[in-house]
Formats: sequence, structure tokens, C-alpha cells
Amino acid sequence: MKRVLTTCPYCGVGCGFYLDVRDGRIVGVIPSKSNSVSKGNLCVKGWHAHEPVQHPDRLKKPLIKENGKFLEVSWERALDYTAKRLKEIKDKYGPDSLAVCTSARCTNEENFVMMKFARAVLGTNNVDHCARTCHVPTVSGLNQSFGSGASTNSYDELPQMDCILIIGSNPTEAHPIVGWRVRTAIDNGAQVIVCDPRKILLAESARFYIQHYPGSDIALINAMINYIVANNLHDKEFIHARTEGFNELWEMVKDYTPESVKDITGVEPELLKQAAKLYATSKKSCIMYSLGITEHTVGTDNVISMANLAMITGHVGKEFSGVYPMRGQNNVQGSCDMGALPNVYSGYQPVTDEQARKRFETAWAVRLPSKPGLTLTDMMAKAIEGVLKCFYIIGEDQVRTDPNTHMIEKALKSLEFLVIQEIFLSETAKLADVILPGASFAEKDGTFTCAERRFQRVRKAIEPIAGKTDGEIICELSNRLGYQMEPDPKKVCDEMASLTPIYAGVSFERLEENGLQWPVPAKNHPGTPVVHLGKFKRGLGKFIPVRHRPPAEVPDREYPFILSTGRTLFHYNTGTMTRRVTNLLREFPRNFVQINSADAENLGIKRRQKVRVKTRRGELTVEAEVTEKIKKGVLWMPFHFSDEPTNVLTNSAFDPVCKIGEYKACAASISKSNL
Ligand code: SF4
Repeated sequence: MKRVLTTCPYCGVGCGFYLDVRDGRIVGVIPSKSNSVSKGNLCVKGWHAHEPVQHPDRLKKPLIKENGKFLEVSWERALDYTAKRLKEIKDKYGPDSLAVCTSARCTNEENFVMMKFARAVLGTNNVDHCARTCHVPTVSGLNQSFGSGASTNSYDELPQMDCILIIGSNPTEAHPIVGWRVRTAIDNGAQVIVCDPRKILLAESARFYIQHYPGSDIALINAMINYIVANNLHDKEFIHARTEGFNELWEMVKDYTPESVKDITGVEPELLKQAAKLYATSKKSCIMYSLGITEHTVGTDNVISMANLAMITGHVGKEFSGVYPMRGQNNVQGSCDMGALPNVYSGYQPVTDEQARKRFETAWAVRLPSKPGLTLTDMMAKAIEGVLKCFYIIGEDQVRTDPNTHMIEKALKSLEFLVIQEIFLSETAKLADVILPGASFAEKDGTFTCAERRFQRVRKAIEPIAGKTDGEIICELSNRLGYQMEPDPKKVCDEMASLTPIYAGVSFERLEENGLQWPVPAKNHPGTPVVHLGKFKRGLGKFIPVRHRPPAEVPDREYPFILSTGRTLFHYNTGTMTRRVTNLLREFPRNFVQINSADAENLGIKRRQKVRVKTRRGELTVEAEVTEKIKKGVLWMPFHFSDEPTNVLTNSAFDPVCKIGEYKACAASISKSNL
């Protein structure tokens, strides 16, 4: 039996485990006790992480669509054909008629290779990935406030906090091993404030539970800031020495008294005041947030308001404080870090920065485009307009993950050529012209970067089931297009480090033990558990006044509820992998909608009864879960189920700054179904 140490492929926590391999097959998962993230723990998904890898549904051969049907073909034929079509489209319509979506499930090295392929080979900055639908507001918002768009502190500090403010995040289900750290903090005496329209598990042990309306976060946080400053609980020394823009912020939040926001938030002023006081006056306070904050048309402003609250109280830029954005997918942090974004190269070096561009041009021996490319959101719109002709998507199921499914299908069907690189036949893959079978985490070497900015090793346990890793596929296409690329992950990591100042000290050798937290600017640098110590990355932290704006859709007579969406413990995202694990599917076999018991009674809806949930974009029939745990007037659904796809309902209205869709709040109706 071979035992291979690697990193979990599901959420952004980044737990470490061993894969047990016998006769070329993975037979089990064993947690790694020495892993600094998980310390011998795993959630139920991690324990079963090996099962989808060897599932019979895995794509094993390349497929080309002919006359509406997929035909199995050889790798040679699939790659020749794909390269030929990419070249034809580039020659006919220009480089910006092509776009690439990289994968937050792939390694850093594969993301680096893919963004290089888009820029150096296809000649376009049209490269993006699923952070557009989860944490791009974090990159944008925290970058504006602090100068760096990632978590400020480390998981190891959590158990020693005095106060943890959790808003728009459900750690025990969506990031369970971080949830366990929060529980440890509670056991150690920490007081937790939970702000969420649903009474999540941690709310049961919280000192204060604030059940605000979806889409009212800015009003809530501004009112907390108002109370803190009005009662002289702000950190004047920190504000004076470390920040700018306080007066402008105060001028604006003066209007946001706890009493004045009651109608917007649905929160009693006294509760809000007590929570604000606890957060401000605790010595070691931090904020943890997730997609409940980012997936809004005001996602960037929501994130900025988190930064404002942290700075007003001096709870950032030191140990045992800070802002923890809990990243979604296993390597969404890394995909952003590797420059799989339309405006930056690896390490957030802008494509518009001539010096940075020259450095990449010299290393890659090509001219690179200087204009930022299209975001994923814009790519879909441009496909419908007929401007975007070709899309190459790796490891993403946009038809199921993106808001407004019908619009996404229309966009993908408008393309002249769609290439999908996937491990299973996803709904998006069904629309492809070519499917290139990719490799799972267990079939490759490389690194993932988790939500605490930690690079960790991913190690190959078995040979790629379809014969090639994702990096190899991209490089073989590149070579066919006349540009030689090297897929060896170790060499790619070295190349990335040589071109990226904040990761200059990263190498496979240095990651062997327990990884490294970036910035790692030199080969002898130990990594950085806490950032902005003594000084923010941008110099002074910037207070940016942000005003409450309601969601793009608010309830009305026809659609009187607010629908919000999220994840559960037993599944991950669209469930492409977790729905292929018997134990996980047994626990959680189908979609449902949560409705408050009083609302259910008014509508005559009973527990487990079939109901019809409807929005302006579509409708679904699912079971009702009648519960006290959700706020009156709010509905909530997970989005893991392909045959009952919640995103037919969600709204693709987007944040104007970073183009994230508004998954967390749209107007909906619910009624008993006859089905
Ligand atoms: Fe994997 Fe996340 Fe569970 Fe850890 S918490 S085992 S990273 S899914």
C-alpha cells in the first residue's frame, strides 16, 4: 500500500490528508495529523474525497460532437482538431474573439499555464474563472481598503480570539474545519456574533444572533460603525496613525443610526448596539465572511464595509484580529493569485503596468495584449451579441453554477466553438463541440492555495485516468499552435515564482513540510501569517464611505419573498463530485426550499410538501422545509442538484465594479404544487 500526502479538492479551507493506494487504485482517505490547517480532522466530504476520482462516470476518452452526437476519438485527433479550430477563429475574428475560463479546482501551476496560454498563445486577456461568481469582490474591495485582497490573518489565531463576528458565512457547513476552529474558540471562552438571515448552527452558541434581511449588510455595518463612533468606542490612535478618510466615513455614517436602519435590516436597535459594543471592546476581535457578503450587486461595497468596521476599531493589522474572507473552492485563492483574471498577471500585477508586462513579454518572448480582457459575466453577454466566438472552459459547470441558467445556455449555444475540459459530463459539457477529459486532484502534482494564503502541495497518487493532466493538455495544444510550453509542475512553479515578486520564495522543495503563506518575497523568507503588520500594503488603510443600496430585485405583490441560496455540509457546489458519493447522496438526496413556519402556515404549506418556487427567470418544484430558522419573508435553497437546478431562479444582475451576480437576493414567490 502506498500512502500519498495531498490536499483536499473541495473547499477553500485546505485540509491535508493521505490517499491510500493499492494496485493503482485509491482505497481510502486518512487525515494528516501534522497538517497545520486541519490537524488530523476532516469533514464528511474530505473523508470521501477519493470516491468520485474512480467513479465509472469519469470521462476517459476525448469526444468530438458530430451531427449533434458525441464520438469518442483519439487524443491526437481531438487536440489536432481543437488547435485547428482555435487558430481558424483567431485568424478570422482576432484574438479577442476567444476566451478562456480556468478552474479553481485545478492546481496553481495549471492556472498559471492556462493564463499564459490565453495571453501568450491566443493573444487575449479574456481569461477569468469562478472567483467572478464568489470572491472577486474580496479581491477588489479589500484591495481598495488595505492594498491586498486576501485574508489578513491565519486559522491558528481563531481559537484564541475573544470575539468572532460571522456575517454571511456558515462555517460549520460550508467550511467545516474552520467551523471546528470557531467552536474551539467558543469552548475557550470566545463570544461569537452571527449575522445571517438563517439561524445557522453557530447561531445556537452565539452571544448575539442578528437575523437581518438579505441585502441589508451595509446598513447593518454602517449602523454598527455609527454606534461605535458615537459612543467613543473607536480606536482613535489606530485611525490617526494607520488610516485615511475617517472624516468622510463619519460624515456619511452619521445618518445610519441603529434606529434608522431598523426597517431596512429588520434588526432591533438594542441588539445591534450590544453586538457593536462587544466587537469593538473585545481585545481580540475578527470578522469572518463569505458569499453572503460577496454575492450581491453591492458585493464590493459590502466587503469595503467589513474593512471599514475592522479599521474603525483597530481590529486589523495585528495578530488575533483581522478579516477572514472564507474562499469557496479549494483553489479559488490560487486561481486569483496566478492571474487567471482579465486585468492582472500572477501576483496581481496589472496587465496595464508596462513594467510588469515587459517582464512577462521578455520571459515568454511574445508581445502581450495591454488592454484588460472580458470578465466571465461580460463573456456571456458578448457571446450572445455574437462578438465572442469561442470559449475554452476547464473544470467549471457554468450552466449550473452561474445565475440565470437560461441566459447562460443561450450564451454558450451562441458560440461557434466551445471546448470543455472536464472530468464528468456536466451540463455545460453537453453543449460542447469538443470535450477533453481532464484529471482530478489525485492524478497530478502541483499546489493549491487555501483561504489563509497558504500554498500547499498536491501530489499524484494514481496515473491520470484519461491519460493526461490538465497542464499536459494545455501545453500540447499550445505546442500545436506553434508556442512551446512545458507542463512539468515543478518547473512551472519556478517560472511563476521568478515572475511574481510576492511569491518569489515559493518552490516545491519549500512547500514539502506544511506549505507557506504568501507573501513569500525571497527564498529565505518564512512566509507571512499576518499581513499589514505595522503598515497596510497600500500605506494607509483607506476608509471608503459606502451607502446601502437595495438588491436589484426587491419583493413586490407578485414576488413577495426574498430568495437566497447557499451550500450544505454534504455537497459541494453543483454536486458534480459529491452527488457521486453514495453516503453523501444518502444524507442529502434532493433539492428543497426553506420557508419560515409562519409564512408556511399563511400559505397552507406543510413540511415536505411539494411547492413551486418562481422568479422572473424561471420556476422549480421542490420539497418545502418548514422551519423557524429562517427569517420571515425569506426563502433559502441550496444549488447542488442538476435535475432541480436552483440557478434557473437566481438573478444575473451584477455588481458594477466586479461583475458578480446577485445569487443571495432576488424576488420570488412560493405556492403549493399539484405535482
Ligand atoms: Fe475538504 Fe473543506 Fe472539508 Fe476540509 S473542510 S475536508 S478542505 S471540504
